[in-house]
Amino acid sequence: MGKKIEESKWRDLLYEIEQNVPPVSYRTWFLPLTPLEYDEKAKTISFACSESFKIDVLRKRYIPVFEKCVAKVFEKPMKVMLLDKSADEIKETLASKSKPFNPVINDDDDTNDFKEEFYLNPRQNFENFVVGDNNSYAHAVSLAVAESPAKVYNPLFLYGGSGLGKTHLMHAIGHYILKHNPDMKVLYVSSEMFTSELLDAIRDQSSAEKINKFKQKYRSVDVLMIDDIQFIEGKEATQNEFFFTFNTLYELNKQIVISSDRPPNKLTDLDERLRSRFGWSMVTDIKPPDFETRVAILMNKAEDQQVTMDEDFIEAIDLIAEKIKFNIRDLESALNRTISLSAHKNQKPTAKFVRENLTDLFPVKDIDITCETVKKAVCKKFNIKITDIESKKRKREFSYPRQIAMYLCRELTDLSLPKIGDSFGRDHTTVLHACDKISKEIKTNQNLADEIRELKETI
Ligand code: ADP
Ligand code: MG
Repeated sequence: MGKKIEESKWRDLLYEIEQNVPPVSYRTWFLPLTPLEYDEKAKTISFACSESFKIDVLRKRYIPVFEKCVAKVFEKPMKVMLLDKSADEIKETLASKSKPFNPVINDDDDTNDFKEEFYLNPRQNFENFVVGDNNSYAHAVSLAVAESPAKVYNPLFLYGGSGLGKTHLMHAIGHYILKHNPDMKVLYVSSEMFTSELLDAIRDQSSAEKINKFKQKYRSVDVLMIDDIQFIEGKEATQNEFFFTFNTLYELNKQIVISSDRPPNKLTDLDERLRSRFGWSMVTDIKPPDFETRVAILMNKAEDQQVTMDEDFIEAIDLIAEKIKFNIRDLESALNRTISLSAHKNQKPTAKFVRENLTDLFPVKDIDITCETVKKAVCKKFNIKITDIESKKRKREFSYPRQIAMYLCRELTDLSLPKIGDSFGRDHTTVLHACDKISKEIKTNQNLADEIRELKETI
């Protein structure tokens, strides 16, 4: 029988892993693991996770680094075993042991009048918000606001480009506050809604009641979140009303959260009084996600869907993440299109499938990639000459870049194996061999995978 992995060892191991993998990968793949036990005789150490796709990713990409870290912390090499177990099974295994790293999720649905009205999307919460370098600060201050509304950062002003997660964070704040303070009145509203409600109230001349009701509604909340404030630029009546709402809430020490596609000082068509109020805020931005974060977000989304998370699918995800860099909404829609189209056509969702079916992601210039472009880029990267890559020289310093170039030609052009072979003065079996070798190696060699990605980007 194995021994329990002590909490302190688990912490040491996590620390070691954190030093060796990108932060977002650490948080997304390693942190959710539950340490189970280790067996000195069998030289194995096991971990569980109820989300099987995370296990798949770990198995495919992280075993070498995982085992390296285990060896360091436990001072002996051990084989890492990853068990795909449900949360209940894990609980059973750990029956009497504590589980420091698993958050308790309590989904009691208390009713609160304000709750139903204000359209908090249940799918946008902190649990499924992937944190990367691009948004970690915005995430941290949002969580702080959610934990202590009106106590830490008030107002909070979130800004960033379209599709980067501003609305998601606001909804997450709303859910969190309602869960922990069910009596609080939390109001989330888009600026369009705010404007149209206000205009409705003003237009209804028949009674002053409607406008009073409007004021009452907005000025009686504990938390007001107003999304896409740039929308009220140039709209005087709306700005005026919002100014008074803002002041009232601020004086009553209520939490205000505002989002915008620009920082306050760039909202040039906004009343100066409002702009300066926003200037008192905690102003924080969200940037576009890096590659690792994009992959993590896609993996998280794919988890909800019925797809087999195999190597082919992971390659498809990598390709989507390579192509779409600036908008998470677009990332999601490319993923959804891939999944539904592949189901519809009854084909596997592979990188090739993505390339062939999501043609809008692959601008025409992709078609113009030739073996020459590939060779040039590879030679530049490895600092060798075109004549070397085309030569029969067998030294590794030439043969390795040559194999990479063949692999890239196969990936990036529509040329047949014999055609690619011709351009290197080889036959098609050599090309096939190179492609197999490189595609296998990419899976175990992170350096090579990174190099290939960079090369693809330059090409
Ligand atoms: P914005 O309001 O900034 O335009 P959204 O909050 O609407 O962007 O985000 C667009 C989509 O991307 C939403 O479906 C959202 O759930 C998703 N999204 C954005 N950021 C993240 C993230 N860090 N993790 C997971 N999903 C995200
Ligand atoms: Mg939004």
